[in-house]
Amino acid sequence: MDQAAGYAVQGGCLCGAVRFELTAPPTLAGYCHCTRCQRRTGTASAVSVFVDPAALRWLGGEDLIRCWAPPDGMLKCFCGECGAHLFSRSPDGSRMAIRMAAFDADPGIRPSYRQYVAYAASWEPIPDDGLPRYPQARPRDAV
Ligand SMILES: [Zn+2]
Ligand SMILES: [Zn+2]
Repeated sequence: MDQAAGYAVQGGCLCGAVRFELTAPPTLAGYCHCTRCQRRTGTASAVSVFVDPAALRWLGGEDLIRCWAPPDGMLKCFCGECGAHLFSRSPDGSRMAIRMAAFDADPGIRPSYRQYVAYAASWEPIPDDGLPRYPQARPRDAV
């Protein structure tokens, strides 16, 4: 039996123009403490969930989405109207990570790692939550 059957969690941006629905459970969730995420969010870290791009359905506002393409790494995509960050994706579209707070309801997964902790903000201690900490990017082969 397909465990993903019936899974559907919606989400969107701050102004409500961009709306989406995820139709399969996320595969991984984690915190990122990199400088880019700090600047992007205005906070000490960002928490995102990796999803199958094919499981994401746009319900509205897809034309409002803007993306910043850094010279390396994943595109950072946000609502062009309200500026709310929504997701990042690899340039070829094969990998996608949705910002966890963009969901309306619990997406059913919990963060399982902290990456780029070498760049963590000096003004906010990393919580002692027992999660594995990676100085740089989480290794792709990490369990
Ligand atoms: Zn918006
Ligand atoms: Zn980051």
